[in-house]
Amino acid sequence: MTVMYNRVALIGLGLIASSMFWAMKRADVVGEVTGYARSSDTRDVAREIGLCDRVCDSAADAVAGADLIILCVPIGVMADVTREISGMLKPGAVLTDVGSVKRAVINAVEPHVPDGVHFIPGHPLAGTEQSGPRSGFAELFDNRWCLLTPNGADATEVKKLRTFWQELGSNVDEMDADHHDLVLAVTSHTPHLIAYTMVGVADDLSRVTDTEVVNFSAAGFRDFTRIAASDPTMWRDVFLNNKDATLEILGRFTEELFALQRAIRQGDGEHLHDYFTRTRAIRRGII
Ligand code: NAD
Repeated sequence: MTVMYNRVALIGLGLIASSMFWAMKRADVVGEVTGYARSSDTRDVAREIGLCDRVCDSAADAVAGADLIILCVPIGVMADVTREISGMLKPGAVLTDVGSVKRAVINAVEPHVPDGVHFIPGHPLAGTEQSGPRSGFAELFDNRWCLLTPNGADATEVKKLRTFWQELGSNVDEMDADHHDLVLAVTSHTPHLIAYTMVGVADDLSRVTDTEVVNFSAAGFRDFTRIAASDPTMWRDVFLNNKDATLEILGRFTEELFALQRAIRQGDGEHLHDYFTRTRAIRRGII
């Protein structure tokens, strides 16, 4: 396989970065991969498990000479990290990120990107409720989508980054950043908030014990608990940075919920049956 990028730097060494590393090695499309994470414990684990060809003790060292720099840190620190590394980015390098929100990341990162560096924001729609350097695996991106929001970046470099993600197993599409944030508010962000809420509600009920919740969990609630176990820092940052779209979808969600609540109170079986028939058809259209 031909080497697409001679030197790749991963900043942040958690679930997404570690999965990217193993997927890059599987695809055999890059040269040396350097890595940096803020916590020395994480860097120690990375060295112990062979995550990255070289783990550096500063972000600046990790990105020096890199052709592709991938920001795999929580959204809230993307700007600080970019400011920290900006002086070390070489002209012609590609800077990308994997943040789950795109407009806020672009607004925060772009002012710190030096002239001559191609900033191509991205978001792999793949994850688990795990986090940290030990949680990654090469297959994470297989047959999942990766959305790029190029924001006017050089077309040749965008095409190359698309091919890179395809080599990692993904399907790739391009989207406007605002539209990305609205789509993800529907398909990922608001559903996570609902799962967090449902698990919080179950925990608050004094007349239902924790043991009963665990023993008698139906599949739906179990799925909620899995989603609600997702990383608190990452998800805090998602909601703080995709405020408008999440609030819009949450507003619509509560309207629908109130309508269902009223139908239950009034014994309006027709409303409930029609609603559930419509949602069943949507599911059958997806799979
Ligand atoms: P993670 O918690 O597993 O890893 C985050 C890493 O960033 C850790 O290694 C941490 O040490 C490091 N870090 C934190 N602050 C730092 C700083 N200031 N400087 C350097 N390193 C720092 O998180 P993750 O799940 O890999 O998520 C990383 C990014 O990927 C986030 O922006 C998230 O929105 C995005 N993302 C996550 C998922 C998912 O499901 N987990 C899916 C798609 C995209």
